[in-house]
Parts: sequence; C-alpha cells; structure tokens
Amino acid sequence: MASKTGSAPPGISPHRRLLARLRDVMAGSGTAQARLDKIVRLIAAEMVAEVCSCYLIRPGETLELFATVGLNPEAVHRTRLRVGEGLVGAVARSAESMALADARDHPAFAYRPETGEDPYRSFVGVPILRGSKVRGVLTIQNKIRRHYAEEEIETLQTIAMVVAELVAGGEMGGRTELASSDAGAAMPTRIGGTTLNGGLAQGLAVLHRPQVTIREMVADNIDDELERFGEATRTMQSSLDQLVARTRKAGIDEPRDILETFRMFAEDRGWLGRIAEAIRTGLTAEAAIQRVRNDMSARMAHLTDPYIRERLSDFEELANRLLMHLAGRTSAASAEALPDEIVLVARSIGPAELLDYGDGRIKALVLEEGSATSHVAIVARALDIPAVSRCAGVMSQVEPLDPVIVDGDNAQILVRPAEDVQDLFNENQALRARRRREYAELADLPAETRDGLRVSLALNAGLLVDLPHLAETGADGIGLYRTEIPFMVRSAYPDVDAQTDLYARVVAQAGDKPVVFRTLDIGGDKTLPYLGEVEQENPALGWRAVRIGLDRPAMLRQQLRALVRGAAGRPLSIMFPMVAEIGEFDRARSLLDAELDRARAEGRPTPSSLAVGSMVEVPALMWQLPELLRRADFLAVGTNDLLQYLFAADRANPLTAGRYDPLSPPFLSVIDQLVQACRAAGKPLSVCGEAAGRPVEALALIGLGVRALSMAPGSVGRIKAMVRSLEVGPLADYLRMMTGRSASSMRPALLAYARDHGISI
Ligand code: PEP
Ligand code: MG
Repeated sequence: MASKTGSAPPGISPHRRLLARLRDVMAGSGTAQARLDKIVRLIAAEMVAEVCSCYLIRPGETLELFATVGLNPEAVHRTRLRVGEGLVGAVARSAESMALADARDHPAFAYRPETGEDPYRSFVGVPILRGSKVRGVLTIQNKIRRHYAEEEIETLQTIAMVVAELVAGGEMGGRTELASSDAGAAMPTRIGGTTLNGGLAQGLAVLHRPQVTIREMVADNIDDELERFGEATRTMQSSLDQLVARTRKAGIDEPRDILETFRMFAEDRGWLGRIAEAIRTGLTAEAAIQRVRNDMSARMAHLTDPYIRERLSDFEELANRLLMHLAGRTSAASAEALPDEIVLVARSIGPAELLDYGDGRIKALVLEEGSATSHVAIVARALDIPAVSRCAGVMSQVEPLDPVIVDGDNAQILVRPAEDVQDLFNENQALRARRRREYAELADLPAETRDGLRVSLALNAGLLVDLPHLAETGADGIGLYRTEIPFMVRSAYPDVDAQTDLYARVVAQAGDKPVVFRTLDIGGDKTLPYLGEVEQENPALGWRAVRIGLDRPAMLRQQLRALVRGAAGRPLSIMFPMVAEIGEFDRARSLLDAELDRARAEGRPTPSSLAVGSMVEVPALMWQLPELLRRADFLAVGTNDLLQYLFAADRANPLTAGRYDPLSPPFLSVIDQLVQACRAAGKPLSVCGEAAGRPVEALALIGLGVRALSMAPGSVGRIKAMVRSLEVGPLADYLRMMTGRSASSMRPALLAYARDHGISI
C-alpha cells in the first residue's frame, strides 16, 4: 500500500522522482491553492521548463489561469480564455495533449500580453482529465525551440491526473465555482431530453457518481501495487460472474447477454496490461487505472462510431468497478444508504452498474448522455422503467435525494416539482393505475366491436422479455418481431445456431399464438456494431433493411435458415422490411425458397405452413399492389416509415418527426387503397407502426377496414377498450362521408365523433 509521506530514494528515474516529490506536496499541509502553486514550481524545476502553468475550467466554458511559475504572477486568476481559444483552449476542447517546438507557428496561438509569455517558443499542454471531463490544462513552456520527448509528455499527463484529484477532491478554493453554477439549485426545474423508454415515475434522486477520489498517486512498492491490482481484478471478475448469475436467475435475457459480453471485456488483456504497465512506471494501482481511463476517455471524445464509444464506455465502467474494489467497496450502488424509490441520475451508466442497484428500487433513469440504441436503453426497457437521456446539465442541477418526476412519454424530467405539479403527477399516476387495472380485466375478453366485428390486436416485440406480455395483455400474437433488436445488443454477429436458438425460444414462448418475424431491418439509425459503419449522407434513404439483405445474401440466407430451423415444423410467418419494388420481394423470397430446399435436402422439418409477406413502408409499392399481392401472402403497413417516406420527413429528426399527421387525407387515402387492394386480392393486411397503438389513429384504421393491428405491449389495453366501445358500421359511413371534405387532419373530427358516440379514447 502506498504511504503518504517519504522522499524519493536516490538513483530512481526522473519520472518516479518527480512523482515521489509530488506525493510529498500532496501529503503536505497548506491550502489546495498553495499545493497547486508548489506543484507548478516542482514541475518547472524537475522538467527544466521556464514556465509551468495550470488553467482550470470555470463556469461558462472558460479557462482561468490558477497557478504559474514563469508567467506574470499578476495574471493568476485574471487571465481567462474560452475553451477552444488559443493553444490552451484547443487542448481543453480536444482533450488531447499538444507539444510544439514553436508555439507561434500554430494557427491557434493567441497571445495574451498580460501574461508576459512572448519570449517562450516551445509549448506542451496536457488536459487535466477526470472521467471523460476536461477540468483544465497543464502547460510547460521554454524559450528555446525544443522538441519534448514522449516520456516528458507522459509525465506531465500523470501529474495532470494528480491535479484533477486536487480539484475534484473539493479542496480547491471556491470549488463550487469550479463546478457549474449553483444558482437556482433549490427551484423547481424542468429538463428536457430524449426518451429512451416511455412511462411516468417518481422517486428520490440518487446521483450515480462512481468515481473514487484517489489520494495516493505514487507507489511505494510496485510489487505490492501489482498484487493489489491483481486481487481487485479477480474480485471484480467474480462479482460480475455473480451479477450474470443473478440476472440469469431473474430470467432477464438480453441484459444477461450484454453482461456476459461485458464480463469478457473484464478479462481484456490489452486493457489490464496497460494498467499493469502504468503501475510499473511508479503509479499506485488506482492512479494507473485512472491513467489508462483518461487515455481512453480522451480518445472517446472524438469518436463518432457508436460501437467503439460503447466499448470504451464499457471499459470506463470496468475502471470504476476496479477502483471501487480497490477501495474495498463492491459497487457505487452499495456505497450509500439508498432510498426505496430511486430515480437514478447519471452522466452515463453501464448496463451492469444499472443492474447493481437491483431489485425493483430503481423507478426511473435519467442520463446526461446516452442514445436510444445504447445498451443501457435496452436494459431500461427490459426493466420497464421510464428513461430519459441527453438531459443537459442534470448532474449539476439535481442534488441527492431531490424529488424527481421522470416523464418518459414527454422526454422530460421535473426536478423538485412544485406542489401543483406534484398533485398532477399523483392524479396521473392514480389514473394510470386505475386504467391498468381496467385493461388487465380486459385481457381475457376478445377485441370485438359492439357490432360484433373481431379485430386482431398483436404485439410488436424484439426482446425475449417482451414475450410474457402476450399472456398479460391477452394479445393475439406477435404481429411484428423486430429481429434486429437481438442483433443490436450483441457484440458479435450471432451465427446460425445462436439465431436458431433465439427464434425457437420465441416460437416456444408464444405457444399457440402466431409470430410474424421481420427479417433484419438494419441500416438507417439501427447499426450493427460488428458490421462496420457505412458512411451515408441520408441513412434513412440509404442502404438499409432488405437492400442490405439482398446485397449480402449470405447474411439474409443465414437468418432465413435459422428461422426455418427455429420453427421446427411449426407454422412460420416471415416478412421483409423496406421493399420498394416487386423484384426485391421476389429475390428475397427466392432466398427463402432456397433455404426450404436446403432444409428438405438435409432431412430437417419444414414449417407446417408458411406465410411470406411484405411490409409497406415505401410509397412506390402503392403503384405495384396487384403484382405484389399476387406474390405476397400478406401485407403489413409500417406507419413509422410510410409516414416518413410519404411526407419526406425524417422520423429521427425532432424537427420533422411528428410534423405530419397520419390522420391527414393523403395518409388515410393510402390506407384506404391498401384495404381495397388486399380485400380484392383476398390477402390479409395489418398495420404495425406506432400509429396502430394510438386510439384515434386505430379508430380511423378500423373505420377504413383494417382488421389487424400490432402495437407496443403497453398499448393493447387501451386499444382493446376502444375497440370494445365502438360500432364499426356507423364509423365507416362517417369516414366515407368525410372523405374529400377535409383538406387537413381528420383528428378533430374523429375526436368529436368518439366523444359523441361514447368511444373510449
Ligand atoms: C415502421 O416503420 O412503422 C415499422 C413498424 O418498422 P420500424 O419502426 O422497426 O422501422
Ligand atoms: Mg420500418
């Protein structure tokens, strides 16, 4: 174990000597400012630099000179730069070190006369990083043109870590000013974000701050440190094993998949090796972990590839775990007494960390970062808790144990809600609970209209955890199984056996109820990490779904093979996404035929019945309907994409998503034509986009003649209630009468109709 005192023994490397002196400074007395002043003097002396300065980030993206030796002392606390301004600002913005033999040649160079830095030519700046946040910049300068050695830069980076701890340890004068402004902290606040999972919940804030303050940076005895590191690694690995076993016992499948991948990373030799190497340079185990993490975070700051970012954040989570094990803690979750109803607030969080908080106490999740496709979003869905991400500044605006309402449906959180908001929330919750009870009572009743017409209500699914909803909701089957979702949560492409196993489980869990498998709908915003990123200017209009399947027939064939095998002689329904022309459907279907031939040749069972359908998402299909319907056994409208392509409005762009109404005449006319065409051809038609799960839209669809809807599990109850309160005959007459009368959305008219006819909306 490292000790806090003691000087460097003679004859050790300059790097270690500097670290040892630094340790003495850190352990010594005096204010944080005094220690920072000593640190810059020490660095300047040991690294033979004429200038050493430390800039720290202040609110408003400003860097302030906090300590210097060599520059004008008067400039301390006076010189300020914006992040991005000058060389120091550039280092802060990029989170990357910069070494220049002649700073004045660099385009970002900004001269500040008050600092008196004009005689200095060479420059090294390293970011002061903690986690993935830049806290400041540490620089050295020399008068002569000097090429700094890699080792010197690394030494400076290590020292920057110490400074980061000094700042984060709360000892720095005016620390609250160094963090974000506290103004208004006690006021009710609304923070908008992006929905990762819908729903409404309330609880007390728990700030997920996994970072452990590192007090000792310099190792006394390298072997001891390596030993501590080895032990913490083993403990971490076995605690992850336990977590995997726990989730397995709880029957949560996809998070387990993710965790197992994560567990694999915990044995990554490259990562563990780099930490051990850093220990051998003289750092404590904690400092070495931090060091390697900082390097990774700095790299991560520039990466746009979501897969690599996700992997690096896995390592960040692992680093936190290791630090906690070194500190003798088991997880961030166990570090404090936690309330019973937690709203977990984090900058970002890994799937394993989220699961650490355990059994049903987490009511909602709020993140500063994180996209809908991230692993943690998938886990949040599996846990069925509302989750909102991209809540800017939430970590600094929420205090521990603040009451927080998370409104996933409206992508917002309400911090310290005022009394009237709180009342509204309580009413809303009571209403939801009552509705849930009412809907649960409907589960065993048929979705039949008052005039005796049966409407099929099915589920959209994609995770195994969705399947129990079949029984709970009384849905008629799975109208859309999004096969890409299980692909998205894996770190490697699942082979035919893995896919077969998955599809067989889906079919088995669905029992007698039919499942419509949609072949991989990747591309666009749904990327598969291991397939490599394809740069596309307009991903939604690009290489996606069946287009990829036809261009990579081996991939599609493998999936079809697995589907045939998974059906194991039972009925099988398959549909292809994003079909734009008949030829695509024909080619996809012929790949399926080839797989059926193969199954026969291998003596395997083929499905007892087979239905092959096409999704209707691309408007061009509207002009090919008779030909398509001669080939396809059924059609399924994906309203999300159909609306996107019909109105040329990106569904992923907040400025255009929701801009056009599916209850507008053009969209309803498309549905009407589809109903007529399918009726004439005697082929089933279903609607499986989000609109199918919204009562007024579903009302219109049924009025136009759609008899099968597929939706998120949470929508089945209210749609069934609507169906059971409806008489279709008069509604169809009403819609026919209204057709052509209104140039804009039918929504107000339909709402009024529902109200006048006692339809439950
Ligand atoms: C749709 O486009 O409406 C649909 C159901 O498919 P996805 O949302 O998966 O693209
Ligand atoms: Mg779609």
